[in-house]
Amino acid sequence: MKRTQSIVPVTVERELGRYSSGERGPLLVVTAGLHGNEPGGVHALRRVFATLAERQPRVRGEFVALAGNRWGLARDTRFHDEDMNRLWTADQVRALRERAPERDHSEHSEQRELLAAIEGLLATERERVSLLDLHSTSGGGPPFTVMGDTLQNREIAFELGVPVLLGLEENIEGTLIEYVGGLGHVAVVLEGGQNQDPRTIDNHESAVWITLVSAGLLTREQVPDYEAHRARLRAAADGLPHVVEVLHRHDIEPEHETCFRMIPGLRSFQSIEKGRLLAHSGECAEQQVLAPFSGVLLMPRYQQKGLDGFFMGRSIEPFWLRISAAMRRMHLERVVSLLPGVKLEARNGNVIAVDPKVARFFTVEFFHLLGYRKKVERERKLVFSRRNDRL
Ligand SMILES: [Zn+2]
Repeated sequence: MKRTQSIVPVTVERELGRYSSGERGPLLVVTAGLHGNEPGGVHALRRVFATLAERQPRVRGEFVALAGNRWGLARDTRFHDEDMNRLWTADQVRALRERAPERDHSEHSEQRELLAAIEGLLATERERVSLLDLHSTSGGGPPFTVMGDTLQNREIAFELGVPVLLGLEENIEGTLIEYVGGLGHVAVVLEGGQNQDPRTIDNHESAVWITLVSAGLLTREQVPDYEAHRARLRAAADGLPHVVEVLHRHDIEPEHETCFRMIPGLRSFQSIEKGRLLAHSGECAEQQVLAPFSGVLLMPRYQQKGLDGFFMGRSIEPFWLRISAAMRRMHLERVVSLLPGVKLEARNGNVIAVDPKVARFFTVEFFHLLGYRKKVERERKLVFSRRNDRL
C-alpha cells in the first residue's frame, strides 16, 4: 500500500473517475471534497483509480467518483458563500431547481453540477445504489462514519470497522447523505482523520476498497491487500466505542462565527466530564462553553468557518443494535401504534405521531431503537420520522 507525505490543494474535474466492465449491477458513488479544505478523499480516489487502471479487475456494476466543492478544493478553503454540505434539504433542492443558474452563489453552482452528475447516474436502473461521502476533520482524531440509522446503511458502515455515529441528522440539516438516503439509497459519510494528516488519505483509500467489496462491485480476492486495508482501519479505531449516539450540538450564532475558540488539544472521541470547559464563544469569546453532560466529544471545531462548534454523544452497546434490528424486522412499530395516543401517519410506518401525554411513558431512546430519529412538534403531537429499512 502506498503512502503520501503531504496534502496539497487540488484542481479537479467534477468527475474524478469512473470504472466498470460493462456489466449490470450495483452503483457505488464516492464523493470527496464537499468541503474544500478536505482534499484527502480526492488523493485517495486518485490512488484507487490508478490501481484499478493498472490491474483491470472485472467489476460488477459501476464505480464513479465525484468532486464536491471544486472552487474550495483549488484554494484549500472550506467554502466561499455557504457550507456545501448543508444545502441538501428538500426545500433547498427545490429552490435550486426553480432558481435561474445566473443567481447561484458559488456553492449553489457547485451543488447544481453535482446534483446533475448524481441524477445522471441514477437515471440508469441499478441493482442497488450506495454513496460513500469522504470527509476529514479540522481537529485531530480517529476515522469514523456517520449515517442515518437504516439497516442497509449499517451493512456498509459497520464493514469499515471504525466507530459509527448515529443521530447526527437530528442535529444537522441538509447533508448530502440525508438527501441521497432520503431517495432510499445507502448513504454513509466517512470522516477519515485530520484534514492535513497524510494518514487521512490512507484511511480514505482503505475505506473505498472495503466499500467496493461491501457494496457488491468487487470480491475480497480482487482487492490488492484487502486484509491490510481492514487491519489499517481497525487499528486506527482501536479501543474506541463501536457506536456513538449524538445527543448534543453546540450551535454557534452566525454573528459569533469568527469568535468561537475551542480549548486547544481536544480530540474527537475523548471522554469529557460534565461541566468541563470546552470552548469560548460569544461576541469576543467572553462566554465559557461547558460540557452539558458526561460523554464523548465529537468534531471540535478548530477552523475559522462553520456554525457547528462541537458535538457530544454517548456510546451504545452493540447488544442494543441487535435488539433494534430485530425490533424493526418484526415491525414492532405496528404493535406500538395500537396503543392509545400513538398513530402511524405514513403507510410504510416511517412517520409516527404521539400524544405528548403518552410520549412521556416512552423515552426518545425507545423510538431510536425502532429507527425513528427526527422529532418535531406538530399540532400538539410529537412526530417521529425515519427512513426506509429494506427488510
Ligand atoms: Zn467535511
